[in-house]
Amino acid sequence: MALDRRTEPWSALLDAGLEDGRLVREAREGPGEARLVPAPPELHPELAAALARLGLERLYSHQAEAVHAAWAGPTIVTTGTASGKSMCFNLPTLDVLCREARARALYLYPTKALAQDQARALASFGLTKRVRPAIYDGDTPREARAQIRKSANVVLTNPDMLHVGILPNHAAWADLFANLAVVVIDEAHVYRGVFGSHVANVLRRLRRIAAAYGTQPRFLLTSATIANPVELAERLTGLEDVRLIDDDGSPTPQRRIAVWNPPLTDESLGTRRSALGEAAELLARLVRDGARTICFMKSRKGVEVLSRLVKQDLEGTDPELAELVVPYRAGYTPQQRRELEGRLTRGELRAVITTDALELGIDIGELDAAVVVTFPGTVASLRQMWGRAGRRGRGLAVYIAGEDALDQFFCRHPEDFLDRPVEAAILDHESALIFRQHLLCAAHEGPLDAEDAEFLGPRWEAHAEHLESAGALRRRGAMPTSAYVSRQPGGYPAAEVSLRSASAESFAIVDVSSGELLGSTEAARAHSTVHEGAIYMHMGRSYEVRELDLERRRALVAPFDGDWYTQPKSQTDTEIVRLLDRRETLGVTLSFGEVSVTDTVLAYQRRRLSDHAQVDIVALDLPSTSFSTQALWFELNAGELAEEISMEALLGALHATEHAQIAVLPLIAMCDRWDIGGLSTNYHPQTGTATIFLYDGHPGGIGITRTAFARFEELCGDAHRLIAECPCANGCPSCVQSPKCGNLNEPLSKAGARVLLQRLLSAAREPALTSPL
Ligand SMILES: [Zn+2]
Ligand SMILES: [Zn+2]
Repeated sequence: MALDRRTEPWSALLDAGLEDGRLVREAREGPGEARLVPAPPELHPELAAALARLGLERLYSHQAEAVHAAWAGPTIVTTGTASGKSMCFNLPTLDVLCREARARALYLYPTKALAQDQARALASFGLTKRVRPAIYDGDTPREARAQIRKSANVVLTNPDMLHVGILPNHAAWADLFANLAVVVIDEAHVYRGVFGSHVANVLRRLRRIAAAYGTQPRFLLTSATIANPVELAERLTGLEDVRLIDDDGSPTPQRRIAVWNPPLTDESLGTRRSALGEAAELLARLVRDGARTICFMKSRKGVEVLSRLVKQDLEGTDPELAELVVPYRAGYTPQQRRELEGRLTRGELRAVITTDALELGIDIGELDAAVVVTFPGTVASLRQMWGRAGRRGRGLAVYIAGEDALDQFFCRHPEDFLDRPVEAAILDHESALIFRQHLLCAAHEGPLDAEDAEFLGPRWEAHAEHLESAGALRRRGAMPTSAYVSRQPGGYPAAEVSLRSASAESFAIVDVSSGELLGSTEAARAHSTVHEGAIYMHMGRSYEVRELDLERRRALVAPFDGDWYTQPKSQTDTEIVRLLDRRETLGVTLSFGEVSVTDTVLAYQRRRLSDHAQVDIVALDLPSTSFSTQALWFELNAGELAEEISMEALLGALHATEHAQIAVLPLIAMCDRWDIGGLSTNYHPQTGTATIFLYDGHPGGIGITRTAFARFEELCGDAHRLIAECPCANGCPSCVQSPKCGNLNEPLSKAGARVLLQRLLSAAREPALTSPL
């Protein structure tokens, strides 16, 4: 047999896809040779000996580079999946621990499973006399905690535990803080949006407490590939001059990338065959052809359904293969995960179907093929999932598009996504609501005084004054040596602050079937997300809301297995509170500022999962809620627009423009369309004209619309392409319809939005009016 592409188990599949047009883009990556260099000779001899025992006398070039960078200052590493990123922070950390018996390190992981994997990786060095790692999280038994505080010199934990368990009790951790040499932040790109804005504050509190004990730990970070790694590292830690290591010296397998678009079933309506059906067919084929495959789906329900479909497909022809397809559910113990990994790598399993719970760097080994069903939200995630494909030097990475606007945009412009890191991780540690919550926590951890500007930023005192007048802080002593202290010294403010929601005012979500607290949602969003009858997704699983208790601020939910989802219908108003920035661009006046958003959820629509058809509309009786946040808005001259768009179509044109802009905003600021709200009106009382608002969906705002304000021209260009290139006649879910529209997508004018955006973009091309000298 000739050694050509025919020998790959997926050649026939790709050929068929090319033939019928479902394979819309094919690319090749690699193979790339490893660049190996000797381990730095400066490493402590015991560590060098440990590396030799592991057969690692030579390192990938970026690992050696990272060790040198880490010795010099704060560093972030952004090389690819499976490039040995942990070695980049483990080596400098272990080196310090070998040199200084008292030195200690703190490792932060976004999930417990990752911390467990890392604890094992550290143990594999066999430096048992020097290195004593221990996991300290919510599962750590009480009786073990004191011993960990006293003797573990690598404490692996998560930001939540640091925030609520460690920092407020710093006295009990005095030895750790007094000897804290290194802080490792793995998977830093996870810390963005609301979560990132909180974690940035937690890390500032950490630096502040460490300084109080006389240490300045070295910060070492890793991240998936994003557009702004250094900025992310600096915003998260508050440090400057973070060094970037991104020149990957690890070998890359030869990988074929396939972007797969299910065929249109009705061109004018823009409907396509479901991504799920397409995935089932593809997976069954890969399994038959002998490829070991991992497949990623967003929801657990999707995982179950897809597993069933693939098994059914195989049972007809190859019943023995059907047994080799398994869904991978959340909640496995590390032992169960090891077992699964072993069965996969030994070839005892052919396909594993999972939610993205597996995505975050967990070592499941390398497989032949990785299939990602629908856009996971960011190219960073997509690349991490694809990185699983590449066993024995070759692999197939597939992405199957859904019908959502971003999915279809991706299919039409894969090069826009694949050839450069597009998304920037956005966070705003000074988002007022979040900042003040942490200022209270910090005051509880130690009086706030002038020296704290170094950690909390120059504007901390203005916020402290605000908290003083609100009765939460008390000023002690006279200027200039005065300090702010907590008004309730016996209180425990950290316990009131959830790192997942912007505002302290939140609703608890309780599963009545188990009594388990699933999480919380911001009060400002509770009415629209957990109203009675709402279908609520949590960790990929669906729940139905049985009761929304406004008094006790909680939603009672139960696991849900029905075949519909819900979409709230609401009335929204925006009031401009403060103008912060303004510029003229594309022939419009573009503003950025604070707005107050008032929302009244009136009803909800039930829609069938299979075809999105409306089942019914159920009225709700809920009071209005309002919250303040950041927004951009732009004013249009309705009179001029009337030349091209009729007055009846104008509102539909504005509304469709707003939807298209929200759909593509995640391309410039890493977020979800659910993080952004919008409002369009042909007359706003404060601007006196037709106006479109895009606002941060989280109280206080987290920087999303600030980024959109700065990059408004790109936003309009992408929105125009989204609309102009969609083959549908009058608007569809792949362009101007939104799954979260409070007006249930009424009215929408695709043609009007196209004209409107065209007009803005041509204004950019006209020569600017220059003022006379
Ligand atoms: Zn369309
Ligand atoms: Zn809408």
